[in-house]
Amino acid sequence: MARRPLVMGNWKLNGSKAMTRELIAGLKTELAEVKGCDVAIAPPLMYLAEAEAALQGSNIVLGAQNVDTNVSGAFTGDISTEMLKDFGAKYIIIGHSERRTYHKESDEFIAKKFAALKAAGLIPVLCIGETEAENEAGQTEAVCARQIDAVLNSLGAEAFNGAVIAYEPVWAIGTGKSATPAQAQAVHKFIRDHIAKQDKAVAEQVILQYGGSVNDANAAELFTQPDIDGALVGGASLKAPAFAVIVKAAE
Ligand code: PGA
Repeated sequence: MARRPLVMGNWKLNGSKAMTRELIAGLKTELAEVKGCDVAIAPPLMYLAEAEAALQGSNIVLGAQNVDTNVSGAFTGDISTEMLKDFGAKYIIIGHSERRTYHKESDEFIAKKFAALKAAGLIPVLCIGETEAENEAGQTEAVCARQIDAVLNSLGAEAFNGAVIAYEPVWAIGTGKSATPAQAQAVHKFIRDHIAKQDKAVAEQVILQYGGSVNDANAAELFTQPDIDGALVGGASLKAPAFAVIVKAAE
């Protein structure tokens, strides 16, 4: 089955109102002709309004880097699915290793976020991946399985219909040390097979992005792999020309 690739920029804690406008203007120019790939960007939540306005008239879809599970009420500092929808955000990153690490987000909590996004009609981009120590201990598959099972066991395989999983080995994030195409492909195949054990059709259509030091030089080779359906891009998404090279490599 032909899956349509998705390349998404994760701006992390970078930007300003002016930078948001300028980067999006650059992306609109660079990506005006792109047809064979879905493109999304996740600026900081503070700049969703700026981004929504700047993206008018383009095919680039707005995303966000996080969501909370409550819909409204006395939850100081929280952001709801409805608020994200209000800005037209569609692809929502959850379970990023930086949130698992710095904010102690558990597999169960992330599964609740997944459920909240599905209930709201938004697309979860579920980040999973092992640390360097886990990798060296041969636990890559066990860690990925555990992180996916939190969703599979609570919501069923059906929840991955129309969803996105980003395999991001923690040792590759922001380090300049990407997984090799063969390494990434092996884990992607494991992830797809793991879901296929419960539902083959769902496994066939789920978008599996690779993330971790993807750049304009290594993207094309990663995308030659049969189970790599695009990328979640951090650092290289902050420069329009580099991000455009990655998007075009995925087409
Ligand atoms: P990186 O980040 O591309 O800067 O390695 C990727 C990510 O954390 O999503």
